[in-house]
Amino acid sequence: YHPDSNSISYTTLSRFPPVTLLPPNQRKRVLVTGGAGFVGSHLVDRLMLLGHEVTVLDNFFTGSRTNVSHWVGHPNFELVRHDVVEPFMIECDQIYHLACPASPPHYQANPVKTIKTSFLGTLNMLGLAKRTKARFLLASTSEIYGDPEVHPQPETYWGNVNPNGIRACYDEGKRVAETLTYGFHRQDGVDVRIARIFNTFGPRMNPQDGRVVSNFIIQALRNEDMTVYGGGKQTRSFQYIHDLIDGLIALMNSDVVEPVNLGNSDEFEIGNFALVVRDIVADLQKKDPSEYRIVDRPMPKDDPQRRRPDTTRAKEMLGWQPRWTVEMGLGEMVRYYKAKMVEGSI
Ligand code: NAD
Ligand code: UDP
Repeated sequence: YHPDSNSISYTTLSRFPPVTLLPPNQRKRVLVTGGAGFVGSHLVDRLMLLGHEVTVLDNFFTGSRTNVSHWVGHPNFELVRHDVVEPFMIECDQIYHLACPASPPHYQANPVKTIKTSFLGTLNMLGLAKRTKARFLLASTSEIYGDPEVHPQPETYWGNVNPNGIRACYDEGKRVAETLTYGFHRQDGVDVRIARIFNTFGPRMNPQDGRVVSNFIIQALRNEDMTVYGGGKQTRSFQYIHDLIDGLIALMNSDVVEPVNLGNSDEFEIGNFALVVRDIVADLQKKDPSEYRIVDRPMPKDDPQRRRPDTTRAKEMLGWQPRWTVEMGLGEMVRYYKAKMVEGSI
């Protein structure tokens, strides 16, 4: 880094993508819990490229080393196998707390572990933020609105959650994580941010994840039945991963302490969404859409009937709005899975 230079400099170590060379007073020590997962690994890429020092904590429950293996050995990067249910000590300036399984089959597989991860994991990471005076960002979720009676959902809506249903380990876990976060803020002055993330998709979603976007794409690429649950009239609004990462970093570096919705307001009925995915895959495979089968399966219990973010706050306070259309993002993701299938890794 040359203080006289107006242009950005990069360090180029041959094995790695070139990372920005930041002056020491701008370089942050950033901890990313859940950094080997889908969202976490994209966040790590962006923070590394921006020139920060990044430590990933992950127990590899749903994430994998390969998601961040391209950074292993880089002087700015560290990967630590650790379960956030146990305390962890490190000096850092910012904590992005993402560790938690996010897909219904995974978080319902061991509901007690899920709620422990949300409660104890968040407690431990807030304790670390308090000790090190790090700024703390919680990856919360649109699920805290439950099966919403208000549509679209603004941050001021308190939600409609079944506290003892099969989704409660996740929904209520995130709700209590938000409560803890504001408890540490009010009581101990911890500097906090809360992102309420709506359905997000993109490359590196675990193909066995069970969430709708990965299921539909993998099923269509393998010419298996595309499974629409419960008739497909329920809605979701899907955002592409790069938009979410822009929003998370903008929120962390803002002074907005209130919760902020991050999502794309492009809302689809799930049955129609299956048709959109089918057509994109058919186009890539140069097949006729009628060659793909869409089948109906039972609706999972407590499945929210509609969901769309009100993103006015993100727009006004962060100057953030999604830039990727769902179709553009789906095209990227379909090509990614196709390439992985060709190389035999999925
Ligand atoms: P993911 O399952 O791909 O990633 C979660 C990561 O956390 C994985 O790497 C997993 O191994 C790790 N992890 C889980 N439990 C842990 C524990 N006890 N200790 C340490 N590591 C642990 O899911 P994702 O989609 O990347 O989600 C990341 C975060 O974003 C989660 O907190 C999730 O609730 C939130 N979120 C995601 C979405 C979405 O659509 N992707 C929507 C709303 C909220
Ligand atoms: N879904 C579906 N087929 C699948 C997987 C999911 O129809 O193979 C439906 C699911 O019932 C829900 C929506 O798609 O209504 C989104 O499900 P996902 O698990 O991706 O996310 P979440 O329910 O947590 O929003």
